[in-house]
Amino acid sequence: MWKQAIPTGWDKLFEQLVQKINEQDDGAVIRDAKQKFGSLRLHLDRYTPATNELIEAAMHQSAQTCERCGAPGTLMVQPSHYYETLCEAHSGDALEVERGNVSKTYRLTPFKPTGEMDW
Ligand SMILES: [Zn+2]
Repeated sequence: MWKQAIPTGWDKLFEQLVQKINEQDDGAVIRDAKQKFGSLRLHLDRYTPATNELIEAAMHQSAQTCERCGAPGTLMVQPSHYYETLCEAHSGDALEVERGNVSKTYRLTPFKPTGEMDW
């Protein structure tokens, strides 16, 4: 059910993550999964060091994977101030941002979240 919340380009990454989490802790329940600031976020109802590590690795991986097609990508910001990780073919009007500058940009621009809950 969470797959719908995940951009298409990350489908494989997400499926593999869920599978690996199940192998480590098959009772863990996904509480939330989404794209945030251009990377995959996944929250479980409980964590083990192993599942925590898996989630962090997937988050890192997603930050380098185009969320539209799965090709290697970089963090971009849309004119609407929406952050996405995109390949060159999908970047369109988006501008590349240095990952370390996200929080700075976030504070300086009137960023409007797309109606999603913040956590
Ligand atoms: Zn792409």
